[in-house]
Amino acid sequence: MFVRRIAVIGTGYVGLTTGACLASLGHHVVCADVDPDKVARLTRGEVGILEPRLAELVAEGVAAGRLSFVLGARQAVEPDAEIVFLCVPTPMGVGGVADLGSIQAVLSEITDVLAPDSVLVNKSTVPVGTAERTRELLGRDDVAVVSNPEFLREGSAVEDFLKPDRIVVGSASQDAAERVAALYSRLGAPTVLTDAASAELVKYSANCFLAMKLSYVNAMAELCERLGADIADVTEGMGYDRRIGQSFLTPGPGWGGSCLPKDTRAMLQIADSADFEFRLLRAAIDTNERQRQRIVDKVRLAVTGRRSGTLAHTRLGLLGLTFKANTGDLRDSPALAVAAMLRQDGAELVAYDPAVPADTVHPGLEPISVAADPELAAKDVDALVVLTEWPQFRTLDWAKLAGLTRQPVVVDTRNLLDPDVLARAGFRSTGLGRR
Ligand code: NAD
Repeated sequence: MFVRRIAVIGTGYVGLTTGACLASLGHHVVCADVDPDKVARLTRGEVGILEPRLAELVAEGVAAGRLSFVLGARQAVEPDAEIVFLCVPTPMGVGGVADLGSIQAVLSEITDVLAPDSVLVNKSTVPVGTAERTRELLGRDDVAVVSNPEFLREGSAVEDFLKPDRIVVGSASQDAAERVAALYSRLGAPTVLTDAASAELVKYSANCFLAMKLSYVNAMAELCERLGADIADVTEGMGYDRRIGQSFLTPGPGWGGSCLPKDTRAMLQIADSADFEFRLLRAAIDTNERQRQRIVDKVRLAVTGRRSGTLAHTRLGLLGLTFKANTGDLRDSPALAVAAMLRQDGAELVAYDPAVPADTVHPGLEPISVAADPELAAKDVDALVVLTEWPQFRTLDWAKLAGLTRQPVVVDTRNLLDPDVLARAGFRSTGLGRR
């Protein structure tokens, strides 16, 4: 059964993907945002984010008359939206607590125009108890509140939405939970129907587990260096164990992005408010912070040959700025965190990223000169530092790049490149946890 009007509030990674995918499944969707420029661009068919198939689905939905964009949540909801998805930001607030200001703003905008028997679905990542508090704030017995956390990954958002590992739906109202689950029935995914608090906790629990897995691998990589073992072989051997799996087993410059840092902090606060000291998670966060310093130390050693001192009078070429490959997202990117520390240490920075044009404005980019191609980023540098795992870096003309540098040194913080290829091109290279 198709829904005649679904409202999706927020047209970022989660909202736009949700809107376009639900329209592709046959539902009628109206997407709303507070940003007039964004709404104008989407109305013209311009999708501002780098996500495979998203622009295509948006165009198809609009052409079929099943997808449209409006300014403001109220416009999308009135007069008769049957289901309303909240996909607004929940950034890190004071002390790490999730900031629910955008959710509250939407609620105050739409409470009096929500149709009787409609369902309010929260897709944003929110602390346990938010569904309950939303019900109280709404004060409407005829509107049910459902938690339906989203698990898509940037860079494969559409694929993840349409082929999910699972759907999680939680509510105090069984009927409302089933109406929301029915939206996804064509996807054939395992569905967990539960209470709202459990659904809210699934999202944090999954993200914190992934963060711990990455911190564990980064710690193992350090141990490998000390013991003369190789992290690639160790993780391959671990990953064949089906209880562990091969994914999220590559060391890197520390996890980041718009979700893991804020969700791990929020989880600590949630645990704290329940009088539970989540030491395991705290250790994962500490390990992550330490990882950035470890990268800076590695760069210093590779460039100057010394374990202490500064990077003054050195010039570094950074390859990759986004928080991971196949996205243009710079929010909380570990590459920017490492860049800030390198700059603090005195290095001059030039960078190339396939998804970051030279005129990009973003907090944290100021001390970096963004180059239009990798050759400009290699010119006269004392080392090239790979910070994002863009696959195209593997096939760069490394011999040519070596000739442009002041010192042919590569620090590969993603273990992306083949050290033999680099050696043949004339580079000295170092990675993480390599023999
Ligand atoms: P985003 O910043 O990309 O998009 C949020 C959108 O909401 C923006 O376009 C913003 O203008 C709009 N907005 C803000 N306030 C609004 C209001 N009052 N009315 C209408 N629109 C408003 O955020 P995102 O990455 O899509 O994340 C949204 C939520 O989903 C967050 O809670 C996040 O933790 C969660 N989440 C994100 C991902 C991800 O990979 N990005 C994955 C799963 C869950």
